[in-house]
Amino acid sequence: MDIFSKIAAGEIPSYKCAENEEFYAFLDINPLVKGHTLVIPRREVDYIFDMEDDEIGRYQQFAKKVAVAIKTAFPCVKVAEVVLGLEVPHAHIHLIPMQSEADVDFKREKLSLPAEEMKQIADKIYAEFVK
Ligand code: AMP
Repeated sequence: MDIFSKIAAGEIPSYKCAENEEFYAFLDINPLVKGHTLVIPRREVDYIFDMEDDEIGRYQQFAKKVAVAIKTAFPCVKVAEVVLGLEVPHAHIHLIPMQSEADVDFKREKLSLPAEEMKQIADKIYAEFVK
């Protein structure tokens, strides 16, 4: 199992923001900004565009609901949706509450927040998530 499958299965701890039977959302451990969330399929699939149309449709609908929860919990201009990176071979959408485009610059230094604050951020998003 890859690391994100283990996270979705609860075998590796994460800061849970939302979930359903098929998808799981949790805080990026090194966020660009507070509220930076990853959305993954529970199923092991590396490349997002290998997903079938109906599955990717449900994935986007789930990501949209998570984005709505993030925007309510952390008011921002827009929530950016970004798919990039080769680090983890498991499809993941980055959702990033954005005040300006600089917030989505992956080359800038990432945050490292205390565990208690990460938990508070995740709980705030989870509380706003409507299935
Ligand atoms: P990339 O494949 O470039 O999108 O990078 C993977 C992303 O996952 C990075 O933003 C990492 O900070 C994040 N990440 C890696 N491991 C974990 C983890 N155990 N929990 C939360 N986020 C992680």
